[in-house]
Amino acid sequence: MINFNQPHLTGKEAHYMYEAVYEGKLSGNGKFTKRCQAWFEQRYGFRKTLLTTSGTDALEMCAMLCELQPGDEVIIPSYTFVSTALAFLREGAKVVFADSMKRNPNLDAGTLESLITPRTKVIVPVHYAGVACDMDAIMTVAQRHNLLVVEDAAQAIDGYYISPSDHSPITNYQSPMPLGGIGHLAAFSFHETKNITAGGEGGLLVVNDKRFVRRAEIIWEKGTNRAEFFRGEVNKYGWVDMGSSFLPSEVNAAFLWAQLENIDDIQNKRRQLWEYYYKQLQPLSEQGHFAMPDLPEYATNNAHMFYLVFPDFERRTAFIKYLKENGVGAVFHYLSLHSSEYYRTRHDGRQLPECDRYADCLVRLPLFYDLTLEQVDQICNTIQQFFA
Ligand SMILES: *Cc1c(COP(=O)(O)O)cnc(C)c1O
Repeated sequence: MINFNQPHLTGKEAHYMYEAVYEGKLSGNGKFTKRCQAWFEQRYGFRKTLLTTSGTDALEMCAMLCELQPGDEVIIPSYTFVSTALAFLREGAKVVFADSMKRNPNLDAGTLESLITPRTKVIVPVHYAGVACDMDAIMTVAQRHNLLVVEDAAQAIDGYYISPSDHSPITNYQSPMPLGGIGHLAAFSFHETKNITAGGEGGLLVVNDKRFVRRAEIIWEKGTNRAEFFRGEVNKYGWVDMGSSFLPSEVNAAFLWAQLENIDDIQNKRRQLWEYYYKQLQPLSEQGHFAMPDLPEYATNNAHMFYLVFPDFERRTAFIKYLKENGVGAVFHYLSLHSSEYYRTRHDGRQLPECDRYADCLVRLPLFYDLTLEQVDQICNTIQQFFA
């Protein structure tokens, strides 16, 4: 059986975890946490980063930082993981679901204007499969209506946005822009299914807008100004705001550090596998059996996911079943959040047909570091047999 996913070890994880234990500091914000955060800030130019215990937690911190009032509206694609919406609902916001694009599952920026009301406060683009959303269009709408933008970059580590315009609305203009570095705030995930992992669960909050830096650190440290105290900026610390315990243990940060040291190797290997899939499957796609993953001209490929989009639900279901019977773990992905058991009675009734199409027709193929080109061949041969 070729599983859909398999976590990868670079070899140094246990070494660094032992080092953290041996040095006697296991709680959060120690040496490995600081090392990882400095690495993200240097490599991607993020203003301020804070490791979290999950991507969900990073999204919850983003939502808390937005200071929403009951009834404030947040625009989120319906084709995403539950956490994207949940983080904002927990803060009392009303979630307004947006449809996906025809060309790929990302939020359709062309529909944003029609969703904005006087209560709209935040837009949350999700870079599905690590592929950039149309950020020039999204940031233009956000600036016009004075809205915050929170990037759900859970899948988007090492992905970039390339502005096609000389008049990009992205203020600190630089191209390519790392995903997670464009909105006011962003969240990454280091869950075991993502490109790099902090040992199963982990995440990162990115603060790009300096107005949020101080409060982010306080929320992270259970509502206290302890981080300022440890830097010697205040002579006592105490309870100053809302917060929770969002810090991961040093054991997780140590695990993550081993992965960050090898990120280029991990990314190169994943990209090689992705491109091999693409080459092998293109002829079947040209025969009309399915659509290939879409990479707009403004997006780079971080090889988070290799997906296919089938013409209908029945053919996708038969395909997943056939692959399973032949030892290949292929899986579908999100169900539309607007018609979920929890949200359907809260949703305003608008149809979101592209989102429903991806929910019914998208399938993901195995893609992980330790997958071999021979196994990709085997998977592609099985796919050819299905259509023969
Ligand atoms: C994985 C993921 C999350 C949640 O991240 P966790 O680390 O599992 O909490 C949120 N949004 C998207 C789009 C994801 O893919």
